[in-house]
Amino acid sequence: MKGVDEKLAPMIAEVLSRNAGEGEFHQAVQEVLDSLTRVIAKRPDYLNDALLERICEPERQIIFRVPWIDDKGQVQVNRGFRVQFNSALGPYKGGIRFHPSVTLGTIKFLGFEQTFKNALTGMPIGGGKGGSDFNPRGRSNGEIMRFCQSFMTELHRHLGEYTDVPAGDIGVGGREIGYMFGQYKRLTNRYEAGVLTGKALVYGGSRARTEATGYGAVYFVERMLQSRGDSVEGKRVVVSGSGNVAIYTIEKIREFGGIVVACSDSNGFVVDEAGIDLDLVKDIKEVRRARIAEYAEIKKSARYVERGHGSIWDVPCQIAMPSATQNELTDKGARSLVANGVLVVGEGANMPSTPEAVRVFKEAGVLFAPGKAANAGGVATSALEMQQNASRDSWTFEQTETRLASIMRNIHDTCAQTAEEYGEPGDYVLGANIAGFVRVAEAMRALGVI
Ligand code: GLU
Repeated sequence: MKGVDEKLAPMIAEVLSRNAGEGEFHQAVQEVLDSLTRVIAKRPDYLNDALLERICEPERQIIFRVPWIDDKGQVQVNRGFRVQFNSALGPYKGGIRFHPSVTLGTIKFLGFEQTFKNALTGMPIGGGKGGSDFNPRGRSNGEIMRFCQSFMTELHRHLGEYTDVPAGDIGVGGREIGYMFGQYKRLTNRYEAGVLTGKALVYGGSRARTEATGYGAVYFVERMLQSRGDSVEGKRVVVSGSGNVAIYTIEKIREFGGIVVACSDSNGFVVDEAGIDLDLVKDIKEVRRARIAEYAEIKKSARYVERGHGSIWDVPCQIAMPSATQNELTDKGARSLVANGVLVVGEGANMPSTPEAVRVFKEAGVLFAPGKAANAGGVATSALEMQQNASRDSWTFEQTETRLASIMRNIHDTCAQTAEEYGEPGDYVLGANIAGFVRVAEAMRALGVI
């Protein structure tokens, strides 16, 4: 094994130095390459033809200016990104994130993760990601629309249903997808429904796409527990976040008989021992676009803890589902969860646990589902949306959800079997990284030096 590490170490060093300062990208690459030690030991041919170096290098990176005019008539300027990471398995596919923290490194890490996640779904989709440092918080509907239109005015030339198919991510939901689709249609004079996913039902969206990431994460966790003769039923659950992923995670956990006692936003978290009232969260977040603090003002059974005055990971639970953002769950949080008896951690967000936190869970024997496997239900259902668009068809909710559930079962079983095959039963991180990698690597090899 040492020999392999020695061969991989300079490769990792090279990736780190040529992508200087992109910490999140380093973290994502490091984790995947660490897992590959075991693959290379069995299959040293994967070291040939700079295959690993090519996999770590995006096929194309687009950075552009996004000028727009705010409600006061002032000109604003933001930066737009699209990283087209890998198209060996299909058109680039992955969401767009609008958040002030977005940098090129953020989008690269997300695009890299997306490539393996998409491979795990078994659907014909490559990996990509986009976004902007635009902050949608407090912006009017008109400002959001003008921003989306300006963003798409540049991005449209790089997209296409056979080229690159974006969707939503943090800060980008159905409203933003609608504005971007409208501008794409106008600029290209083509009703190309399959160029974006996460569309509203009325113009080519898929049933169950809105729910898919959260539902899928819960299906994954349920399958994990089932494989150990247990289930979600009766379990106490903490879900961080209160956006699209968190909301539909809470919904499915409740359907499976679990009790969600806490959720959060970037300002703080709420604990409601009576069980989180999902209709209220939906009203606060999806309708009024307000802060989660309002939950505790309305619900007397709840308490609100402001950011900096406590951690959601100190709330005792058996299942934790980090569903907010990257690196939100550190080793401190992980130790607290373990001390309080957590059994399962299912990542709804992309890379929400730091590498140190993952180590804490591993050492404690906690069942850990990494985001690139557990949250793949969103993009998998995007691929189902593309399928419906290509055939000009529209499936029922039940039909779509049944497909989603079976995809999640397959992803779970693939990760579990791969981990076992490589001598680490129960290590879903290893299983996901290896299974995703092998699929991408095999396709790349079949296509020649690309
Ligand atoms: N942003 C989601 C993700 O992280 C969905 C991407 C998509 O549907 O293309 O997987």
